[in-house]
Amino acid sequence: MAKVKDLLQVADKNLVGGVDSPVRSFNYVGGEPILIKSGQGAGLYGLDGRKYIDYVLSWGSAILGHAHPRVVKDIRAKIGAGLSFGLTCETEIELSQEIKKAVKSIDKIRFVNSGTEAVMGAVRLARGYTGRLKILKFEHSYHGSADYLLAKSGSGLATLQIPASSGVPKDFIKHTLVAPFGDSKYLEKVFAKFGSQIAAVIVEPVGGNYGVISPDIKFLKRIRAITKKHGAILIFDEVITGFRFHYGTAAGKFGITPDLITFGKIIGGGLPVGAFGGRAKIMDNLAPLGKVYQASTFSGNPVVMQSGLSTLRALRKLKNSYPQLKKLVDHLKSNLIREAGLSGIDLNVASYESMFSLRFKKKADFVAFYRLMLGKGIFLAPSEFEANFISFSHKKSDIIRTIDAARLAFKQMAKKEKD
Ligand SMILES: *Cc1c(COP(=O)(O)O)cnc(C)c1O
Repeated sequence: MAKVKDLLQVADKNLVGGVDSPVRSFNYVGGEPILIKSGQGAGLYGLDGRKYIDYVLSWGSAILGHAHPRVVKDIRAKIGAGLSFGLTCETEIELSQEIKKAVKSIDKIRFVNSGTEAVMGAVRLARGYTGRLKILKFEHSYHGSADYLLAKSGSGLATLQIPASSGVPKDFIKHTLVAPFGDSKYLEKVFAKFGSQIAAVIVEPVGGNYGVISPDIKFLKRIRAITKKHGAILIFDEVITGFRFHYGTAAGKFGITPDLITFGKIIGGGLPVGAFGGRAKIMDNLAPLGKVYQASTFSGNPVVMQSGLSTLRALRKLKNSYPQLKKLVDHLKSNLIREAGLSGIDLNVASYESMFSLRFKKKADFVAFYRLMLGKGIFLAPSEFEANFISFSHKKSDIIRTIDAARLAFKQMAKKEKD
């Protein structure tokens, strides 16, 4: 496959690390990343001519699977009418209606172009609305690549953060507090000290960026209560979880009403999107009605909005089928654990509904397993810390093929260990 080798070389020369987003470089697992030609349903086709069962699904975006016929048809019909106007279009209004119908706590919404932008807008709005400076996030959470959210916990009570990236000035994260997730006592201490200065708490209701972390609903409710008490805005970052577990938000599923919710991934149906929304009382502080500036040339782009709208409509029709996704994950999980055990390999599978992640005792085991699975046409997230996803296009036969591949991989790993 000389062609792929050549392309990878050009990619390495032209793009930093050969990629436009770091995890795509397969740094964690080593070896060459796959170059993608196309996707169809649960299948991903590499430029190397190989087919993979896709558990990454554009990092959770493609919940219908790739190239869903109805979504593709609707987008095709749309593009002939112009690609971007920088003005309000009908589809944008329709998509806002569709989301509002599914998410009762949202009066108003603003569409943007990425999850990062959605989070930045929500945080700025929270600060503008409350007139406060500090925001609180949790360890191991990911909220996009804005400077002030790239903070790791350092020492001191949620203070003295360490920038999680070079190029992020300490000054830019000095208003970012970081707390351990699930520790109510700690949270109370932070609020006792900084309560009147905290504009917002932002949280992933189900952890999806440090492996899959099952929701701690009690703790989420604790956050809701304490933010309410102190007049801080609660932001649920549902960029992954929005429309992932049912036709609505994780907030709706858990019976918690955050003040603001951010969306991304799924609601764009595969095109770049983000959105944030909440009660009108808060949202109306955004320009042009209010003093919190937020703007973008491509926000509410007609093609993106059509992609999102057609995706959500197709999902709404499937809304009673969400439990099937969980069933597939559960089947995969129990069999992976069993097969690993039979080969004497220590594997932990964390899962919640249609998301799962794999953790081996040793990183080397993950890497070995990953490379073997890739070789057998199974495309998993190339890091233990990234979530894997199931789409409505995944069939039982895909899961069985994956289990068969895993059985072989575990056996090869066990044999190698012996040799
Ligand atoms: C992916 C993600 C983001 C960032 O979205 P982008 O579209 O990549 O900017 C924010 N928050 C969470 C929880 C995410 O998973």
